[in-house]
Amino acid sequence: MKYDVIIVGTGFSGSIIARKLADNLNLRVLILEKRNHIAGNMYDKVDEKGIRVQQYGPHTLITDHAWIVDFIKQYAVWEPWDVTAKVEIDNKLYTLPFNYQFIREYYGEKKAKNLIEKLENAYEGKERVTVFEILDNPDEEIVEFGEMLCQKDYFPYSSKQWGIPMEAMDRSVISRVKFALSEDKRYIQQRYQYIPVNGFTDFFNNILNSEKITVKTEEDALPHIRFDDKTGKALFEWEGEIYNCPIIFTGPIDELFNTCYGALPYRSLDIKFKSFDFDSYQDVPFVSYPQAEGYTRIVEYKKLTNQNVKDKTTISIEYPQQYVQHVNQPYYPIINEENLALYEKYKRQADKYDNLFVCGRLGDYKYYNMDAAIERALSVEKEIEEFVEQPKRV
Ligand SMILES: Cc1cc2nc3c(=O)[nH]c(=O)nc-3n(C[C@H](O)[C@H](O)[C@H](O)COP(=O)(O)OP(=O)(O)OC[C@H]3O[C@@H](n4cnc5c(N)ncnc54)[C@H](O)[C@@H]3O)c2cc1C
Repeated sequence: MKYDVIIVGTGFSGSIIARKLADNLNLRVLILEKRNHIAGNMYDKVDEKGIRVQQYGPHTLITDHAWIVDFIKQYAVWEPWDVTAKVEIDNKLYTLPFNYQFIREYYGEKKAKNLIEKLENAYEGKERVTVFEILDNPDEEIVEFGEMLCQKDYFPYSSKQWGIPMEAMDRSVISRVKFALSEDKRYIQQRYQYIPVNGFTDFFNNILNSEKITVKTEEDALPHIRFDDKTGKALFEWEGEIYNCPIIFTGPIDELFNTCYGALPYRSLDIKFKSFDFDSYQDVPFVSYPQAEGYTRIVEYKKLTNQNVKDKTTISIEYPQQYVQHVNQPYYPIINEENLALYEKYKRQADKYDNLFVCGRLGDYKYYNMDAAIERALSVEKEIEEFVEQPKRV
């Protein structure tokens, strides 16, 4: 046999597991990727204007953990970078996050002074509150402010993003973006925010750069995988040989089992790129458009990743849409009770095969930021190490 381990997917999950198994156990890894490039959703490339753009939407690494920063720095040079953002409300731009400065810009100094005083008293000792906490306040003026935020931003943005009416929306989705009870200007609240100096694809090339790792792109793994219920093994057929070694799958778990219980729903994005022969499209990397028809956000790439390119710029516009298998990308799992119950069925199915390890945002059907994807990949890699040394899981 040519390989000791088979991995499906070259995003954070698959690439990290591949590298760690190669380094720690000296295993020979075959890693398959169905797209024509590595790096999963973090893939970036230089466009015709000389600007590095991220094909599957804007990414910067954000985390509260110093060890994550140390980990990524093993494979590339990263630099700290604070991303800023604005929102357009009633044709006027306001700086995000929503904070006291926003109140002053929106209402003017006089009304703002009174409202800020009321908020200070109502939420003494708190740094940020959800819009629902604002709506639940007994003070009429505070509630009116919360209603304005909901009507002009939270509700239209979220229902466009998720494609469902507000009544059907889980409160937790809206509660994620909080109001800052201060002048706090940090759009991203995590302690560390980094970008790879030479881009994400270069970073992934470095992770996968090991003589123990063989990468095959434009190779859908599914036709090569089958299951043997008698032995409780997942099998992988490759170049005339049948492997029953550890198989790590980081693609959609429902597709692994031919969506036998039904498809797990995702939200997708149609990301349209536009380039211009002028220096600047907008003064910050992100502008969100809650009230616009069809799209939610515009990103200017050279500002997102600190690229020094003059007189040219490239933006992308995000149009949320329904995910359809083979047509667009599964971006955001739609987390609700029904979908989680469906996911559990697939998880139980996967657990039947002792050499099968399913993980990643598509395998676990979870929204992972990159730091969480790294943490999960490292923990699955440890499980695989134990399995390889003692090949029977209880
Ligand atoms: C628009 C958007 C913006 C984001 N921005 C940020 C951000 O700023 N910061 C942050 O921390 N996180 C961000 N994230 C989250 C980030 O993208 C994930 O954390 C990351 O993609 C997780 O990596 P992964 O390896 O689990 O999945 P992926 O990157 O999706 O990798 C899975 C890989 O498996 C491949 N694959 C699937 N099925 C098969 C098959 N049958 N055969 C072969 N290959 C297959 C896929 O092609 C893909 O390359 C963002 C997500 C989205 C959608």
